Amino acid sequence: MTTDELITLSNKIIMATYRRFPVVLVRGEGTRVWDKDGKEYIDFVAGIAVCSLGHSHPKVIEAIAKQAGILTHVSNLYHIEPQITYARILVENSFADRVFFCNSGAEANEAAIKLARKYAHERTKGDQYELITMKDSFHGRTLATITATGQTKFQIGFAPLPEGFKYVPFNEIPALESAITEKTCGIMLEPIQGEGGIKIPDADYLKKVREICDEKGLLMILDEVQVGMGRTGTLFAYEQFGIKPDIVTLAKAVGNGFPVGVMLATEKVASAFQPGNHASTFGGNPLAMAASIATMETIMHDGVLDNVVKMGEYLRTKLQELKRTHSLIKEIRGRGLIVGAELTVEGTDIVAGCMEKGLLINCTSGNVLRFVPPLIVEKSDIDIAVGILDEVMAG
Ligand SMILES: *Cc1c(COP(=O)(O)O)cnc(C)c1O
Repeated sequence: MTTDELITLSNKIIMATYRRFPVVLVRGEGTRVWDKDGKEYIDFVAGIAVCSLGHSHPKVIEAIAKQAGILTHVSNLYHIEPQITYARILVENSFADRVFFCNSGAEANEAAIKLARKYAHERTKGDQYELITMKDSFHGRTLATITATGQTKFQIGFAPLPEGFKYVPFNEIPALESAITEKTCGIMLEPIQGEGGIKIPDADYLKKVREICDEKGLLMILDEVQVGMGRTGTLFAYEQFGIKPDIVTLAKAVGNGFPVGVMLATEKVASAFQPGNHASTFGGNPLAMAASIATMETIMHDGVLDNVVKMGEYLRTKLQELKRTHSLIKEIRGRGLIVGAELTVEGTDIVAGCMEKGLLINCTSGNVLRFVPPLIVEKSDIDIAVGILDEVMAG
């Protein structure tokens, strides 16, 4: 089938939940992807912060291929060796004592919401169940996670929504303090808001949230689905804010494109989950774990984190230079390789113009261009990408 025929069929038989670009991507290698007609693109979307080691990373390919020939799936009724191996790597390199595996970010957050409620239930017999979350946050598309998400546009038409969520503005301590009641069991937030427009909190904000949680006996739940696994220059974003959360959720980059969701927790909190309380058929299956182990070991040991810090600075510097010549750019912000360029106009046309010239970026929050390239991106890739953006903005 030709590209046009495929797109026509896609629009006819696949549910219309996405506004898709009119291309069919068929192959990827490193920071590059190719469409069905052979056109090459430099990929600064990376599956939205998923393919952190780039496309077709040899270590991930090898791990998946090898494991596929040994054991693909067995039930969590049994102990699973690659799952134990990966969980050990996670607990040895994080605040956590225990791990739960699932298959996506929404599911990881759903697990975190359930764990927070269960933990509170053991203490208060059900009187404490409310989670405070942030305006402009994003936590996923299940009923509980669209409710946790502080944006009505994701909630309209899906009522009744589950009870027990309350929203406050991100990065504002007084509003958070006054929202806490005797029903509150925890505070759930992204350390850096991704879908909300690459919003970075004040240096001491998360520390203050931690203090409030300690004072009031609340759980601090961090959604690191987008910023975890090295994206910000440290393995986890919380490390940069000098705090330890009680629960962390991960997904996007965990398996470098193989679907994996993770919930990390301390022993104290995790002990609220007992056999029968939560489960996932596919969660932590051998194939998913093989991909995740290869991804995390490469991120930790192949100089990837250093590259994130260096290339993140380089990208932001180049974009700041661009800001001087294009009044369309209002602000550049970011940490490591999650970078946003806030525009004075909607970003749709710029994104389309860049795609035309062979650069994939996307736009979030209406007017924020988002750059989340693979963490293995090189200077020359950034030069090409910023060059294309420069041309497109010059019109
Ligand atoms: C993408 C994302 C999610 C949802 O992840 P899915 O795998 O699409 O369910 C949740 N939280 C944050 C911060 C995200 O960026």
